[in-house]
Amino acid sequence: MVSNTQEFQIAIVPGDGIGHEIMDACIAVLRALERKHGLIFHCSEVEAGAEYYARSGTDITDEDFTALGNADAILFGAIGHPDIRWPDGTEIAPHLRMRKEYGLISGLRPVKAFPGLPIPLKDPRAQEIDIVIIRESTEGLFASLGKGTIEGDRIAKETLVITRDVCEPLFDEAFRLARQRKSKGGPGRVTCVDKSNVFTAMAFFRKIFDERAALNTDITADYRYVDAAALDLVRKPWEFDVMVMENMFGDILSDLGAGIVGGMGFAPCAELGPKHGLFQPAHGTAPDIAGQDKANPTAMLFSAKMMLDWLGERHDIQACRDAADDLARTIEDLFAAGDVVPMELGGTDGTKSYANKVLTKLG
Ligand code: ATP
Repeated sequence: MVSNTQEFQIAIVPGDGIGHEIMDACIAVLRALERKHGLIFHCSEVEAGAEYYARSGTDITDEDFTALGNADAILFGAIGHPDIRWPDGTEIAPHLRMRKEYGLISGLRPVKAFPGLPIPLKDPRAQEIDIVIIRESTEGLFASLGKGTIEGDRIAKETLVITRDVCEPLFDEAFRLARQRKSKGGPGRVTCVDKSNVFTAMAFFRKIFDERAALNTDITADYRYVDAAALDLVRKPWEFDVMVMENMFGDILSDLGAGIVGGMGFAPCAELGPKHGLFQPAHGTAPDIAGQDKANPTAMLFSAKMMLDWLGERHDIQACRDAADDLARTIEDLFAAGDVVPMELGGTDGTKSYANKVLTKLG
């Protein structure tokens, strides 16, 4: 139930691989923000994921799955392990089931350049990159999850599904977000990314986008075919504001977005539904660096920042919004001063050193 107390039940799932390290850093930072801004977080930790499956034979218990849905917010580290799979070889990913069960249709994935940090694009305008990719997260090509077929070892089929019931709130969220960003100086533009020139389902996606755009005329409606969107994300990403797209396209383009601002460690995500919010970096468990204190916690910390913003809006608690702004400003200032350069970008700050500097600056 939505209330406006300053106390929140936060369900925490560290998950697998670097999930443990970045979550430790994140909890320490949340505790500091809690003290500073007069908030109370009742954090309950839930074991789930590939390592848990290897120990117990299940990826998450039914009881814990329900408990996550009853929390005010769900905070995930990262899930999965390349060597631990379901017997059919597919990935262990309880959060994918959660998207469906809890109606988390809108996956908000900010792509933002941080002044002070080196990024691959050398054009000075690249410092202005500030995009939010909204990845529809419950249908599209992923509607076929677990339902693909192989006929006679000759033909494999997966079915892409687009529904009005999902598209309408998805596009409304895109226009709402663009409006909120416009009130802070953003251009007020939503780009619909699709392949409507080829596929019937995508033409339907664009038709519904146009219908919702007609109800949001204060925001500019813009369009790109997905191939052109990939090109422009590299060629002139500073021209995008909010981009909204089908699930698979969002999966791919949000990794491309992370690449242009430094890597997966800079890719936070908020998965939002009508009643639930799940906050989890868009990256995986990075087995190549797990357990070595090398992970960049920026994506995890900005996912937590998005959780604070969401709780603040939903419960109308200014202290949450203040804590979110405080966290973002603290990290941005550390980057701008050159005081933190994550190892992911060739710097010397591992997860613990980065987190300690954030904690010191938060005071
Ligand atoms: P998934 O399929 O679960 O998304 P993946 O196998 O595509 O996972 P990631 O685990 O995201 O890949 O890792 C991709 C690359 O990005 C790896 O080289 C990994 O080390 C790096 N990486 C991912 N997250 C981070 C992070 N937080 N800090 C530093 N490097 C990271």
